[in-house]
Parts: sequence; C-alpha cells; structure tokens
Amino acid sequence: MNLEQQLCEIFGPDACITEGKRLERYRIDQVGDEAYAQLPAAVVFPTHTEQVVRLMRWANQTGTAVTPRGGGTGLAGGAIPVAGGVVCSFERMDQIIEIDTENLMVVTQPGVVTSRLDAALQPHGLFFAGYPMSEDICCVGGNVAENAGGGRAVKYGTTASYVLGAEVVTPTGEILRLGGKRLKDVTGYNLLQLMIGSEGTLGLFTELTIRVIPRPVARAVLFAGFPDSRSAVECVTELKRISALSSVEFIDGRTTRATNADLPASDRCRLPDSADAFLLIEVDETDAAQLSHVVDAAERAVVAAGGAVVLRGSEPRSSERAWKLRKAVPWWTKRVAGRWHSMEDVVVPPAQVPALVAYADRLRTRYATPVAVFGHAGDGNFHITPMKAQSMSEEQWSSVIPQLLSELYLTVHQLGGTISGEHGIGRKRTRYLDIVLSESERSVMRRIKHALDPNGVLNPGVALDEG
Ligand SMILES: Cc1cc2nc3c(=O)[nH]c(=O)nc-3n(C[C@H](O)[C@H](O)[C@H](O)COP(=O)(O)OP(=O)(O)OC[C@H]3O[C@@H](n4cnc5c(N)ncnc54)[C@H](O)[C@@H]3O)c2cc1C
Repeated sequence: MNLEQQLCEIFGPDACITEGKRLERYRIDQVGDEAYAQLPAAVVFPTHTEQVVRLMRWANQTGTAVTPRGGGTGLAGGAIPVAGGVVCSFERMDQIIEIDTENLMVVTQPGVVTSRLDAALQPHGLFFAGYPMSEDICCVGGNVAENAGGGRAVKYGTTASYVLGAEVVTPTGEILRLGGKRLKDVTGYNLLQLMIGSEGTLGLFTELTIRVIPRPVARAVLFAGFPDSRSAVECVTELKRISALSSVEFIDGRTTRATNADLPASDRCRLPDSADAFLLIEVDETDAAQLSHVVDAAERAVVAAGGAVVLRGSEPRSSERAWKLRKAVPWWTKRVAGRWHSMEDVVVPPAQVPALVAYADRLRTRYATPVAVFGHAGDGNFHITPMKAQSMSEEQWSSVIPQLLSELYLTVHQLGGTISGEHGIGRKRTRYLDIVLSESERSVMRRIKHALDPNGVLNPGVALDEG
C-alpha cells in the first residue's frame, strides 16, 4: 500500500491530502522566513481521538514524522513539518463540547478558533483570559501547546494558568487523561503542566478542560505618547502600582507612526509629533464605578512621567482603534521587511525593562539596521524585531542576523531573562538554546523526549537541540 492508501485507511479519502496545491498551505507557519518552509508528504484531518491514536501507532511502525498543527499562526516554526512526513491538522476537531457554568469551566476540542471560544462564553458572562493577540486565527490546542500569553497576561497570566485537564495522545499512541474538572490536584507527577508549552513534541492534545472567569463588565483604554522610550518604560512601574491593569503595551515611536500610516485612514490615530514612544494602557473591572477612578490615576501617572494622552475612552470604538494599531504592528513588520526580519520574543524581569529597551535602541546603530521595539511592557515580554536595512544586501543580512540574535539573547540572559516568553523555541531558536539553558538542563529535556517518543516521530527538530 502506498502512503495515501495507508492514511486513507485511517482517515478516509476526504480527510487526507497527499498531493497538489492544498499541501502548500501546511509548509510554513507565520515564522516569516521562507527558508524554514518544508512541504509535508501528507496532511490529515482527524475528527476523533481514535484516529490520532492510530496515526501515531502507524508513524512508529513506519518511522514517519508527524507534526501537529492548529491555526498555523506560530512565530517560531513549531508547526512546520521540518522532517517532511505527515501534518496532523486539528482544524476539524472544532467542537466546544461543554460550557459548564456551575464549575466555571469549558471542555473543548483543540481546533476551536480562540475568538470563537470567547464568543461562545460571552452570553454566559464568562471569559477565557489566557488568550494571545492572534485570537481570530489561532486555535485553543495551539495556545496550550505554546503556553500562549498575550496583551492581557500582565493581569491574567498565560494559558497554562487556565488549563485544568487534557486528553493527550502520546507519541507512541496511548491516551492519557490528565487532570480534569478539579481546581487542585497533587496526584503523581504534574504531567499536565509538562505537556503544556511542549510545542507539540511530547503529545497531541485532543481535548482540553479550561477554567474560565467572570467577564469584566467595563473596559477603558488610554493611549499615550512619551518624549522617549525611557520615560515610557519608567512610567510602566508607576502604572503597575495603581491597580492590576489588564494591559500595558509599548511601541517605539517610528514603528507606531509607520504602522498608523499603513492603516486605512478611518482607523488611524492622531499622533503628537513630539512623541517618540507610546503606551497602550487598558483597565478592566467587574465593577464599572471603579473603572474611571483607575483610569484617572493612570492618566495622572502618564502626565507625571512627561507623557500626553492621545486617546482615552471606554467606548468600544476608541478602544478598538488603539488595539487595531497595536495588533497591526507585527503585520506591518512582515509587510515592509518580508522574509528579511526576525520577530523576537525575549522576556526579562519587569524591573529590567528599561535596561532591555535602552539596549534595543542601541542595536539599531550598532548593526545599522532598523529594529522595531514593541510588546507586552507590563510583563517584560518584548518583540524586538530587527529588519534588513535597504542598503544591506541579502548576504549581509544573513551573516549579521545570527550574530545580532546571539548578542541579544546573551544580553537578555544577563538581565535575568530568557529567549522566549510566549512564541516558543520552535524550529527557529533551537541552535541558541545553549545560551540560556545548561547542558544538564538540555540533557534532562532530551531524556524526557526520548522516554515518551523513543522513535523520535513527533515533531522532530522542534523545541530541543540535538545535543
Ligand atoms: C499577528 C500575530 C500575533 C500573535 N500574538 C501572540 C500573542 O499575543 N501571544 C502569543 O503567545 N502568541 C502570539 N502569536 C503566536 C501564535 O499565534 C501563538 O503561538 C498561538 O498560540 C499558536 O496557535 P496556533 O493554533 O496557530 O498553533 P500552530 O502555529 O498551528 O502550532 C503551534 C505549536 O503548537 C503545536 N500544536 C498545535 N496544535 C496542537 C495540538 N492539538 N496538540 C499538540 N500540539 C499542537 C504545533 O506542533 C506547534 O509546535 C501571534 C501570532 C501572530 C501571527
């Protein structure tokens, strides 16, 4: 039997692609650089767990690599079928199984688009707080596999804080039912947390139990300009003393202006010429009366730091306008620099944010190339994004970027941080792992991987170095 016949036996002819243009979509995720792309031999679309079990048993028998995939929005190449083989796309496992309003939990399949989960929770006054800013295009399974964070992680934490249970198919095809509808659990090793954030290398999520919380009833945004990066990031510390703000996002001045100019005219913000750095501050409360009190205090902190409010509002329209600008930044970097940019995801202790941003500003002159600096200032997670200068040749860029990244990662490590806060190691950062993890730490990880995946068939080449 050929590959197609073998996979058709498990999935049926409508849930398996082995040739043609439809394979193309699965050769890359949002990592940007086409050099990472790899066409799979096949893509399969399970609709139930038993098919995933059979797939993994078959993969071990035949020595075929399997790459799990959700929305394909990852920024580190984790869903790229590096070794060819089969992509297991969860897009048809897209049922929300139960919204349990008594326990405040939801049980869902992994292929549910994250914003659809949120829309389903809304009528119940509930909220899944651990979602990333790609919520309209990513899936819940991918969020759990990456332990995604996002614009509101500073108040609500990352996805891992909300996952209570998971059905997982191991690389050798066993089903594990980890955790469940329990808020506490100290029964054996915490395999659930080991699986979360393992970037599809230790198991495939086929069902998830997620804790949800009461939905904030009131939300307001302050968008403020500052004379320089330093005054903006120093203001963050003051802002965080006021209250648990739901977002504190930073964008450097040049990137803000360029992204704003790239938006349709009706969506643009009016930006003061004097500002060279911006903060998007969001406050949400379950008590509406408390909201304006906190926003007033935040505005006073902005002004005291030398900033000026560009936009203040609790109307969805004003808040949407500021968020549209912030969310457009990654797409702008991609549009102007194409594959010649590298969106980074470094994270440092909150108190080291001013040092990190000052260093990122220096990178521009040191490497004579544009560097967009933006990200989740409230939790120290920054998307420092070097882009190829127009004057630089492609060859120059290819030799400069590994050097620039090694230096950035080393600096971040020295500041007490690490190389990824939310996007993961994926395919992109494996060669830099030794900058932040010792040989003993990497060796323990490799041994865990080998114990669960002795034939190395699940997402090989992702998250770990070869040793
Ligand atoms: C514009 C933009 C904004 C973004 N903003 C954020 C942000 O704010 N915060 C953030 O954390 N990330 C962000 N991301 C990155 C990305 O969206 C997240 O990492 C997201 O969680 C990936 O979900 P996905 O469904 O697209 O996963 P994919 O990209 O398909 O896969 C990601 C990883 O998860 C694995 N995987 C997928 N499904 C499963 C499964 N069912 N079982 C086991 N493994 C699986 C894959 O093998 C891969 O290693 C952003 C991306 C873009 C393009």
